[in-house]
Amino acid sequence: MNYNKKTVKDVDVKGKKVLLRCDFNVPMAKDGSGVITDDKRIRAALPTIQYLLDQGAAVIACSHMGKPVATFESYVKKQTEKGKDPASITEEKWKKSLAELRMEPVAARLSELLGKPVILADDVVGPDAQAKAAALEPGQILLLQNTRFEKGETKNDPELAKKMAAMAEVYVSDAFGAVHRAHASTAGVADYLPAVSGFLIQKELDFIGGALADPKRPLVAILGGSKVSSKIGVINNLLEIADTIIIGGGMAYTFSAAQGGKVGDSLLEEDWKDYANDMVKKAADKGVKLLLPVDTVVADAFAPDAKSQVVKSGEIPDGWQGLDIGPETVALYCQAVAGAGTVIWNGPMGVFEFAAFAKGTEAVAEALSKTDAITIIGGGDSAAAVQQLGYADKMTHISTGGGASLEFMEGKELPGVACLLDA
Ligand code: ADP
Ligand code: MG
Repeated sequence: MNYNKKTVKDVDVKGKKVLLRCDFNVPMAKDGSGVITDDKRIRAALPTIQYLLDQGAAVIACSHMGKPVATFESYVKKQTEKGKDPASITEEKWKKSLAELRMEPVAARLSELLGKPVILADDVVGPDAQAKAAALEPGQILLLQNTRFEKGETKNDPELAKKMAAMAEVYVSDAFGAVHRAHASTAGVADYLPAVSGFLIQKELDFIGGALADPKRPLVAILGGSKVSSKIGVINNLLEIADTIIIGGGMAYTFSAAQGGKVGDSLLEEDWKDYANDMVKKAADKGVKLLLPVDTVVADAFAPDAKSQVVKSGEIPDGWQGLDIGPETVALYCQAVAGAGTVIWNGPMGVFEFAAFAKGTEAVAEALSKTDAITIIGGGDSAAAVQQLGYADKMTHISTGGGASLEFMEGKELPGVACLLDA
C-alpha cells in the first residue's frame, strides 16, 4: 500500500465546501444523560478543523457514533437473535436507542472547544442537512447527524456516498479510527470528490507507515496482549520487517507450552501451539532475533489482590497462572530496546489493569521513554496502558485507532487510506 497521500495542504480549499470525516465516536455516560466521558477524539480533530476554517473553507463534518440500527426491521431481527422476548421489542425502544446516539453532545463540546457555533443537521443527507450545507458560508462549520443512521453507510452504498459528496467540493478524511472500514463516509465518497488526508491521518501514515516501509534500524517489535490468535497477522507481517521480536503478555504461554513448558492455568491456545513453533523456526531462518520470557509472575487467581510469586518460564505450578513478565525478562527486554532505532509496540506485557501485574508493562514503557528510538504504540489497550501509566507524552507516536492500527501493522490495505489521492 502507498502511504504517501495528498493532505489538506495540497489542495486549495478557500471558499470551498469541504466534507470532513472525523472520528467523533466518543464514550458516553451509560445512563443516557448525553455526558461525554472522554473528549480526546474531539480534541484530536481540532487542528484539521481549525486549519480548514482558517483557510476559508466551509466545513461539513461528519462521524459515526456507536452502533445504531438504522431500521426498525433490523432492530427487531437483532433483538430477536439476542433472545429478547418479542413482546418487549418496541418501536419506542428502538427510537430511544437511536436518540442516545445523536450528535448533539458532540456538537456542543466541539462548539466549546472551537469557541464558535457548530450548526447541527437533523439528518445525514436528508432535507435538513442539504439545506444547511447549501447555506453554509466560509469559516462556518456544520455537523451532520450520525452517519450510521443511514443504512447505506456500513454497506458502502454508492447512492449514499453520492449524496454526501454532492454537498461538498473536497473530501478530507481525518478519522483514522475508521479507515479500516470501507463505508460510504470513510471510502465511498472518495469516488466522487478529490480526497485528501487531514493532519491526524497524515501523522499515522508518517509514523506507522514510515516504520513499516523504511524503519530506522534496528527495528524492535514488542508484541503482547492476550491471545496469539488475535495477533497472527501482526506477528507474520513484523517477522518480515523487524530485526528483533519480543513476545510478552498472555500469548507467551502458548509459545512456552509449544516448547514443552508447564503453563499451569495461564492463558493457553492449544490450537495455536504449532503456529507458535513455526514462528520460532521462521524467525531463526530469517535471522530475526525472537525473545521469549525467561521468567514470569504467577498468581493463584485472576484477581488484583491474588497471591503472587516469580517462577521460571515453563515451570508454572498447577493452580497458578502467569499474569506478567518476570524481573529477569524485564531486564532482558529493556536491554533489547536500548539500542533500537525504531520500536513498534502492540500488546501489554501483562494484565496491566491490575496494579500488581502492571510492572512488566510499566518497565517496558519506561525503557521506551529513555531511548532515542522512534517509539510507536499501536492497539487500543496498549495506548490505554501507556496513558494510564503516565508515559504518553514520552512516546513518538501513539496511534489514535485501535483496530485500524492493528490492521495497519498487519500490512493490510486500509480502504479509507487507499481511496485518498497519491501524493
Ligand atoms: P491491544 O488492544 O493493544 O491490541 P490486546 O487487546 O491484544 O492489546 O491485549 C490487551 C489485554 O491483554 C489486556 O486487557 C491485558 O489484561 C491482557 N493480558 C496481557 N497479559 C495477559 C496475561 N498474561 N493473561 C491474561 N491476559 C493478559
Ligand atoms: Mg485490545
